[in-house]
Amino acid sequence: MSKRSVQDFQFGSRIGEGSYSSVFKAVDIQNKKIFAIKVLSKKHIVKEKKIKYVNIEKNTLNRLGRHPGIVTLYYTFQDENSLYFVIDLAEFGELLSIIRKLGSLSEICSKFYSIQLIDAVDFMHKKGVIHRDLKPENILVNSDMRLMITDFGAAKMVDDDKVDEEPTSKSSFVGTAEYVSPELLKFNRSGVESDIWALGCIFYQFITGFPPFKGQTEYQTFEKIVNLQYQWPSYYIPESIKDIVSKILLLDPTERLEMNGLKSHKWFNNFNWNDKSKIWSSSPPKLS
Ligand code: ATP
Repeated sequence: MSKRSVQDFQFGSRIGEGSYSSVFKAVDIQNKKIFAIKVLSKKHIVKEKKIKYVNIEKNTLNRLGRHPGIVTLYYTFQDENSLYFVIDLAEFGELLSIIRKLGSLSEICSKFYSIQLIDAVDFMHKKGVIHRDLKPENILVNSDMRLMITDFGAAKMVDDDKVDEEPTSKSSFVGTAEYVSPELLKFNRSGVESDIWALGCIFYQFITGFPPFKGQTEYQTFEKIVNLQYQWPSYYIPESIKDIVSKILLLDPTERLEMNGLKSHKWFNNFNWNDKSKIWSSSPPKLS
């Protein structure tokens, strides 16, 4: 694809705002394709010492290339004041707002979206990328009700899919309190298993509407995580969801289900994971 610049796009409405970025809807004037463009203020990035995270996001997205479950970075360019990332537009915004609007997801929707997440995270891990901040705010939804993982500013690239053996310093805590893994809190270690832990928290949230570990303060949330203190609501939750979550939310990362174990879990009922069109193109169940 040819190099683009800011003049090649017609900017529309602002659809979101981050701490050092704004996201706009935009049309590529040449081919009329619609994108989202994330505009990052250079001054702000330098002032807030975020250069490293912006570079990680760009390099990781470039390494990942294209996958239906991961936001694609099509072009990057800059002008005097800003950096521009041209990415897939997610018409329905964050998955979190959909869960909030509905209260929780039905079992059929929980399973459908869990399958998409597993396929996307498996792809990412096979490319040697650990996301490290998976949560419903970082999962966007496009007009076909396809999930797209975004926000790779906290990602780590590793060789193959081995656990990251290099301890990170305390000050480099990344992630969001509710989804952070016990091994990161206790030993400053995170690997592919930490993303699987976050998936367990998200599957729980799909069906109940709230994350499994949530205290009044961040400290209380951390205490709950390291002590594995979570409960299921008293109303009916299908047994096989409880089972998969209980095999993911284990303190010892080596005991947690791995990708293959996840895929062959009974909740997915012998699902054919090679059938990508079923995962990504089949008509989604009605949101409920
Ligand atoms: P922070 O930097 O504070 O962590 P953030 O990572 O959410 O915030 P952005 O990635 O710039 O910051 O996103 C800002 C908002 O724009 C998000 O809340 C999201 O809802 C929306 N947004 C981001 N990317 C897209 C996209 N590709 N399509 C539609 N909306 C998007």
